[in-house]
Amino acid sequence: MRRPLSVVVDAGAMRHNLARVRALAPGCRCMAVVKAEAYGHGIARAVRALDGADAFGVCCLAEALQVRETAPHSTVVLLEGCLSAAEFAEAGRLGLETVVHHAEQLAMLESERPALRVWLKIDTGMHRLGFAPAEVATAWARLQVAVPGAHRLMTHLAAVEDATFTAGQLERFHQATAGLHAERSIANSAALLSLPEAAMDWVRPGLMLYGASPLQGDQGQAHGLRPAMSLCSELIAVHELRRGDRVGYGAAWECPAELRVGIVAAGYGDGYPRSAAPDTPVLVAGRPARLIAPPSMDMLAVQLDQVPEARPGDPVLLWGPELPVETVAAGAGTIPHQLLSGITRRVAIREHGAD
Ligand SMILES: *Cc1c(COP(=O)(O)O)cnc(C)c1O
Repeated sequence: MRRPLSVVVDAGAMRHNLARVRALAPGCRCMAVVKAEAYGHGIARAVRALDGADAFGVCCLAEALQVRETAPHSTVVLLEGCLSAAEFAEAGRLGLETVVHHAEQLAMLESERPALRVWLKIDTGMHRLGFAPAEVATAWARLQVAVPGAHRLMTHLAAVEDATFTAGQLERFHQATAGLHAERSIANSAALLSLPEAAMDWVRPGLMLYGASPLQGDQGQAHGLRPAMSLCSELIAVHELRRGDRVGYGAAWECPAELRVGIVAAGYGDGYPRSAAPDTPVLVAGRPARLIAPPSMDMLAVQLDQVPEARPGDPVLLWGPELPVETVAAGAGTIPHQLLSGITRRVAIREHGAD
């Protein structure tokens, strides 16, 4: 028997969202970020839907190979860079592009001399990856000697919603790169949605291609984006509980009154967040219902006071176009990126319109 839980991916929504990126950053080239199984949507599926992108961004070599299986001639950028001389050699053979963010990597490049394009990453304040602004001139010069070519410059923003902090990052980037003849890239989704001046030669959207917004209290739909993922399941049991009955592990939730309670086939073993608070919304047969008790590994309990006729087999939407993943993420104290990319392997992925 088929488990009723599945992810339904809408390729048309991804295509639409790429067009939104183009509209928000006219004239810019777009590196579509498809790391982490394309934020849970499946790399192959996303690469097919986003074939209009100018490049694909991935985390590691294994992901780059997956992109190339689907799109053999695509431009692929390793966003964490190569972590050994062997990886540089392999990336060179495959004609990948790679980020270089550390002196160790420059040294490997100097000994390996692979024929590839480098995106030199500058740390302008996130303090995760990148050369300090004061090191950029030297790193750039070493890079040009080791592997002459049309290399590029990039940085990553840490806190787009903090205007002062972000202004500092932009200023450090512009200062550190002044006079260097190269294409530049700064903007991820958050910047694309709220900071037009960060869209330079290249933009690097991830989350928004899948229809969600990274900004606090915001939703992708407010920016004309279409959610590409629906997490769908069914009720597998319905109970009439009485006042004082307990639900779930620890007998922690106590029924305040006579209540219809539904059990949904979905849990943290599927990627539904265990931290989802009581009252996190779900839709049962298209009508609003709310979580009670913390999700368990395979099941969650919802109260059905607004769906009195609900029965086992009724469809349940955990997130999707009618129930933004941003809302569920907020109810779970996390971010939509984590929910989308956290879908586990046992969940079947289907394409919208296919069976
Ligand atoms: C993941 C990533 C992105 C995409 O970020 P979103 O917030 O999902 O748009 C862009 N650039 C780099 C370097 C990344 O690692």
